[in-house]
Amino acid sequence: MTPKLTLVGAGPGDEELITLKGIRALEKADVVLYDDLANSRLLDYCPPHALKMYVGKRAGRNSFRQEEINSLIVRLALRRGHVVRLKGGDPFVFGRGYEEIEYVRAQGIACEVVPGVTSCVAVPASAGIPVTSRGVSESFWVITGTTRSGELSDDLYLAAQSNATVVVLMGLKKLSEICDLYARLGRGHLPMAVVQNGTRTNETCVVGQAWEIPQLIENYRSRNEVGASAGYGLDSLGLDGPAVLVIGEVVALHPAYVLDYLQSLPMVA
Ligand code: SAH
Repeated sequence: MTPKLTLVGAGPGDEELITLKGIRALEKADVVLYDDLANSRLLDYCPPHALKMYVGKRAGRNSFRQEEINSLIVRLALRRGHVVRLKGGDPFVFGRGYEEIEYVRAQGIACEVVPGVTSCVAVPASAGIPVTSRGVSESFWVITGTTRSGELSDDLYLAAQSNATVVVLMGLKKLSEICDLYARLGRGHLPMAVVQNGTRTNETCVVGQAWEIPQLIENYRSRNEVGASAGYGLDSLGLDGPAVLVIGEVVALHPAYVLDYLQSLPMVA
């Protein structure tokens, strides 16, 4: 038995968006440590003897601190062999994957990384929004909405003044602040989308101009009775499901945006 860690990107949510290499790692796992964003159906690829352990932070379950996860990986690798750490999207995009690799390598355990399809590109794509498009956007900027200080990132302030498509992860709780920032910079008219549970069967998407998005989401929530006891609207655009914010001209390529625009035109007899 050789202790080993494979850090695997699980993709954005749809179980089919993991890589073949990721599946092969799962098939050879002795232990799988997974968290919330990884689709739990992927655990079906593990051999029957594999120990499957949830180490995520959502849904009111006991959460593990990063240091605890790091030492758990080492202990389980030494005791059982091949540990697969399954993380949503790509493990190095706001995933703390590098911290895990660094710690485990320092204990002399071999590590491998299997990249994943990251939500910052795949979630807009599955909703019909290209992050770049020739003649529309020459770059995209991926920023966290949740910095360590709790303030909006300075990068967001810079990005909001550029022509780049801006993708904000972990930004739903800061939505109003972000839309206000765009409005203050005179860019509140930019098309914006909020896509929640992207690539999953309960994906929801709201599009509009940045200044009006908080209100559009309020309208969406009240129409769908968020918090009702059952049904599609349960966590649709509630604060719990993961959501990606996309701001920039490319969002105007979304079919709903085009439709809204056409509907706003005066009727010609
Ligand atoms: N490593 C991940 C990102 C981890 S940060 C990746 O590469 O995708 C967690 C954030 O990712 C969430 O708060 C949300 O902003 C975004 N996210 C992940 N999965 C998502 C999904 N299916 N739909 C919408 N946003 C998602």
